[in-house]
Amino acid sequence: MTKKKANIIRIIDVTNRDGVQTSRLGLAKLQKTMINMYLNDMGVYQSEFGFPVTHHETNYLNANLELAKKGALKPIVLEGWIRAIEDDVVTATQMTDVKHLNLSISTSDQMIKGKFKGKYTKKDVIKNMVKAAKVAKRKNIKTIGVNAEDASRSDMSYLIEFSLAAKEAGATRIRYCDTLGFDDPFSIYERVAHLASSVELPIELHCHNDLGMVVACSIAGAKAAIDSGVDAYINTTVNGMGERAGNADLASVILAIKHSSGFRGKYKLDEKINLKKVWKIATYASYAFGIPIPVNQVAVGANAFAHESGIHADGALKDRRNYELYDYEELGRGEPEIIDTGRKITAGEYSGIKGFRNVYDKLEIKFKNEKQAAEILELVRYANVHTQKPLTEDELRFIATYPVIAKKIFTMAPLK
Ligand SMILES: [Zn+2]
Repeated sequence: MTKKKANIIRIIDVTNRDGVQTSRLGLAKLQKTMINMYLNDMGVYQSEFGFPVTHHETNYLNANLELAKKGALKPIVLEGWIRAIEDDVVTATQMTDVKHLNLSISTSDQMIKGKFKGKYTKKDVIKNMVKAAKVAKRKNIKTIGVNAEDASRSDMSYLIEFSLAAKEAGATRIRYCDTLGFDDPFSIYERVAHLASSVELPIELHCHNDLGMVVACSIAGAKAAIDSGVDAYINTTVNGMGERAGNADLASVILAIKHSSGFRGKYKLDEKINLKKVWKIATYASYAFGIPIPVNQVAVGANAFAHESGIHADGALKDRRNYELYDYEELGRGEPEIIDTGRKITAGEYSGIKGFRNVYDKLEIKFKNEKQAAEILELVRYANVHTQKPLTEDELRFIATYPVIAKKIFTMAPLK
């Protein structure tokens, strides 16, 4: 038997930050909330749930933190993304009750020159980040992740200097960002091993898919961190949504750690992860983003367990291991789904009380009295205006269970 490495690989899902900031993609705040709920059900360690200094996020973020207090979003860690500048830390802590933050600043020569245009030198970048981290510490932020944007194109000795300064200022972790998907699995292994052994802080891997290597780079980076004696955290998104060609797909990363030849039984994935929920979250995210799941998508694509050619079909029927590396049951697939093919009453922005009652009766949700039913109906109408899609059963259940919080989630008013 191979000995397991002691350190753990945990998942930080960034769908609600990188996923939603992607061109032409977005989620309503109720949909972001549902993603957090599903991630929590799935045992994902942390959700980067949004932008604490963006005004239209405030109610959503605070409402989700309330859900955490109530135990509905527990044990998942809800963390916000801000720039690594003092002002952002102060504003984030004034506008929200967030207790976990990732502070981001560019560390590559390309970006320091090409983005800051002489405004900040490399020394200034470290100075700003240190100041921001120290303020976060003073404000009792529990997890201070420091993100090196474009780490893969950064000078290695500068990246180490930056990370040591972050550690000294109170950082809990360093996020190694392969912002442009420039690394390959070999280069990221080497760089992260060097960084992790020099800094001795847990490393987050944040990779992009511009060269089609995102999952390979994410797990190679995690392997480097573990081999160097620190914990690893992989940033994922549901269905790989994210800037340009996307981020590391949540299901693929988990399956790669559990089933690939070099990881299986050797590297330890967070034990709380329950892959059985992956089918549900992937299909929900596809619906919410309005992006169909490709037939050949890992784990959740329509063809992921389909066999047609003679030899393959025969082989899979004789013994599934002939042509299937893992079981569909492991992913929560294989349950029959009931689809109404006759009359269907839906609840929407112009619904009346009778149709609405019918919808909730089918979900076996009862209301105390007419007044309560009318209140929930009003919220359901607003939720539908807000998502512009028929509400899912889980969304309807959520609104009936947490009406006050639901109201807060879809209440937004621009500042004067
Ligand atoms: Zn990114």
